[in-house]
Amino acid sequence: MLRTSTPRRGVASLGRAMTVSPPPDLIAGFVAIVGVANAVTDPGAIRPYLAERRGSFPGATSLVLRPQTVAEVSAIMALAQETGTGIVPQGGNTGLVGAQVPDGSNSQVILALDRLNRVRSVDPDGDTITVEAGVCLASVKRAAEKAGRLFPLSLASEETAQIGGNISSNAGGTAVLAYGNTRDLVLGLEVVLPGGEVIDGLRALRKDNSGYDLKHLFIGAEGTLGVITAATLKLFPIPRGVATAFVAVERPADALALFHIARGIAGLDLTSFEFMPRIALDFCLRHLDGATDPLREPHPWYVLLEVSSGRSVASARADIDAILGEGHAAGLVREERVADSTGEARALWRLRYSISDVQRPEGVSLKHDVAVPIKDVPAFLEEATRAVLDLVPDCRPVPFGHLGDGNVHFNISQPVGDAALFMAAAKTITAAVHEVVARFRGSIAAEHGIGQMKRALLPFVRSDVELATMRKLKAVLDPKGIMNPGKIL
Ligand SMILES: Cc1cc2nc3c(=O)[nH]c(=O)nc-3n(C[C@H](O)[C@H](O)[C@H](O)COP(=O)(O)OP(=O)(O)OC[C@H]3O[C@@H](n4cnc5c(N)ncnc54)[C@H](O)[C@@H]3O)c2cc1C
Repeated sequence: MLRTSTPRRGVASLGRAMTVSPPPDLIAGFVAIVGVANAVTDPGAIRPYLAERRGSFPGATSLVLRPQTVAEVSAIMALAQETGTGIVPQGGNTGLVGAQVPDGSNSQVILALDRLNRVRSVDPDGDTITVEAGVCLASVKRAAEKAGRLFPLSLASEETAQIGGNISSNAGGTAVLAYGNTRDLVLGLEVVLPGGEVIDGLRALRKDNSGYDLKHLFIGAEGTLGVITAATLKLFPIPRGVATAFVAVERPADALALFHIARGIAGLDLTSFEFMPRIALDFCLRHLDGATDPLREPHPWYVLLEVSSGRSVASARADIDAILGEGHAAGLVREERVADSTGEARALWRLRYSISDVQRPEGVSLKHDVAVPIKDVPAFLEEATRAVLDLVPDCRPVPFGHLGDGNVHFNISQPVGDAALFMAAAKTITAAVHEVVARFRGSIAAEHGIGQMKRALLPFVRSDVELATMRKLKAVLDPKGIMNPGKIL
């Protein structure tokens, strides 16, 4: 809600919800900062900014601002603070928990970071890159590669997601096993605080124990504490050889045993270890153009593993062969396909990266981004599957994800045919999944964050003391509560 003495106009009643758009003079003030060409006010042009992927969080706004400089972001925040206007930072709008869209009040302004899109510098000697928040992840990776370095963060959404969004959601992805989450890749941040002050923390230091490390407050904060405008990130050597294998196993416990063999042989060169059930591959074969089964026979479960070597392709391949050899000897591997070319490896990754998309034509689905300790993944899968099938016997669990870091996307597709009973039981199903997660002392928000979707669940997974500390931090940094209101807390 805007706190301003200017008389409000644009009040509209939508059903029971009352919407209040910012008054014209305030809108004009914001527009003047970025220029008319960079302020979106036409409802048709605003629509894509409000459309989030899950379609679960209908929001409203009268204004999208697209600043190009830190000074403009700072001026926007100063005006927002002065007038108590809620600001919703938005990157590539690929978030999955409704964190990047405003609520339905029409009182909040979207701050789109896409025009802060410069690669400020690449330093191959220092193994760092400094980029503005609106550079998409794939472009960060390409800029690093051009300088002969690797930026390892890898997500299916990387052509659209922006580095500011990745940092604000502490994105995980498929290379966490070797390189960590986004948090582990950030050396320094430039942040505009809610009042407009700028923290210039773009330091490229590997060691710096001079007081509180403020950058960590903003990483994973989902835009609730400040606006990230630029980041200095860690770079790595580009592996000289990468080998990829698609491996069939009988059960998740066998996949876990194979994971330990792979870690033992490849160590930190094991850069990915993903898993998926047969039904996920069936959905890909049914709905993904050009997809083919990599193996001769159908199998219950699959692992996609990748080894990256600093020496050569032959060395990466030798590790994969050794892993498969031990896996066969231990009776864990039913069949395998090792990619013979980068094209073939890409086709295998395409299957893994398409799982969410190919669930869509199968009807509605319930999605749970959870994590449990790695050793408990097989037991979790068994218990969670049993729990949901007890509730809706013909629903179709499609659990997949990052076995190497314990992150399971426990997705469930509706039964074939009628979705009504399934959707009627949605809350009970989700509660059942989370109850199993809690039994394993897991997380109900592994990598996608809290946003709007999981806000009500936070008190179940964070203690009173933790929540009170979060609220105190929020109150100190954002006393007027203008940064991404209604998210996380
Ligand atoms: C197909 C697909 C696959 C995905 N795979 C993964 C995956 O493997 N791992 C994973 O972790 N996520 C994944 N995601 C989720 C999503 O892509 C990530 O969370 C991504 O990091 C979001 O980036 P974005 O730029 O789209 O941010 P948005 O969706 O635009 O915003 C996300 C959050 O960050 C805030 N924000 C954005 N920019 C800024 C900024 N500059 N300053 C302050 N706050 C900001 C927003 O307010 C919001 O709270 C996937 C999504 C899709 C659609």
